[in-house]
Amino acid sequence: MTEDMRASIGLRQVINVSGTMTSLGASIVVPEAIEAMAQILPQFVEITDLQRKASAVIARLTGGEAGFVTASCSAGISLAVAGAITGENLLAIEKLPDVAPEKNEVLVQMGHVVSYGAPVDQAIRLGGGKVVLIGQATSTHRFHMEQAITEKAAAAVYVVSHHVVNYGLLHLKEFVEIAHSKGVPVIVDAASEYDLRIFLEQGADIVLYSGHKFLGGPTSGIVTGRKDLVRHSFLQNMGIGRGMKVGKESIFGVMVALEAWEKRDHQAVRERESSYLDLWKQTLDGRPGITALIEPDPTNNPLDRMRVIISPQEAHITAWDMAAALRRGTPPIIVRDHEVEHHYFYLDPCNLHPGEEKVVASRLAEEFDRARASNDIIATPIEDLSRHRFDGMLRWPD
Ligand SMILES: *Cc1c(COP(=O)(O)O)cnc(C)c1O
Repeated sequence: MTEDMRASIGLRQVINVSGTMTSLGASIVVPEAIEAMAQILPQFVEITDLQRKASAVIARLTGGEAGFVTASCSAGISLAVAGAITGENLLAIEKLPDVAPEKNEVLVQMGHVVSYGAPVDQAIRLGGGKVVLIGQATSTHRFHMEQAITEKAAAAVYVVSHHVVNYGLLHLKEFVEIAHSKGVPVIVDAASEYDLRIFLEQGADIVLYSGHKFLGGPTSGIVTGRKDLVRHSFLQNMGIGRGMKVGKESIFGVMVALEAWEKRDHQAVRERESSYLDLWKQTLDGRPGITALIEPDPTNNPLDRMRVIISPQEAHITAWDMAAALRRGTPPIIVRDHEVEHHYFYLDPCNLHPGEEKVVASRLAEEFDRARASNDIIATPIEDLSRHRFDGMLRWPD
């Protein structure tokens, strides 16, 4: 590992137990990809040829007919939608986001319109899509989709994520069956998924992954699937894709990260992560008001996380105040806190450098001891969280 440069430019040396978060720099890039990027950066290459080589690697690993690398999975959604709308019409590609082609409707289940840091529906609109919401937040029935498909339907988007509503919606296979019965291609956002093949196997026409999440590649997105649709998405680099471009280093970095993924000893990674979870469980078990549960990933990725449930009456602190205390401390520990209003957060063991698990354990013990010793219950009103959520962003850069 190279030296930690963060202090030299005045950055806090955060420890990430929240998962692959864009706001923290996504993931630890694998050494193979770092090396590959350094090798290609001084050289000129013909980018379209490099993307052709990437296509072959992506096709081999995903089972798609072709693929390419773009700036992010979010970019991939916009490009795939744009490709489904314009086909190979170069003039239409230049005119986006104004839409001339007669097909521009994009179906998406209401329970899938989530935010991964930005809204899913915006990524569709950026690609020229007119979002057609089907169903309600927690229910989509077949008729919702069947009746919503008109002759203007260009595509249907399906999101795989722990953020989406996880009951009452159409499953991918049904979604595909209904879309295909009307000749509509299905685009799957699988940004955060380990399984590089299953969604194409289940009938999706295009699948999108992040290069910088579990793969440990540079910041990037991977588009894979049916060759004509992939090509039509790729052509958007002469249009809206320009603002989403990747350089040679990202394309090559992802190729190498994919090959490293193929060779990675996933079993050994799991065992290491389990040992972290065991350590944290030992640290927390038996403390008043704290329940530590090891739970599987909600979208069936092969990993576990720890859910830390906190009873403020007994622990003398709320889950959100504990998350804030860990974030403020030295070193700052960033937990996975999007469900914190339910009095729990998660600890994700995927993005730790060896030894950091011990720092996390001792900081947990320290903060829980401190809270327990407090005479008052540390409980910021939950409303203050939402009131002040964007204060920092709105003050940026000062
Ligand atoms: C992370 C994520 C995205 C965004 O991926 P980027 O590559 O960071 O743009 C999109 N959809 C889902 C479901 C995600 O988890």
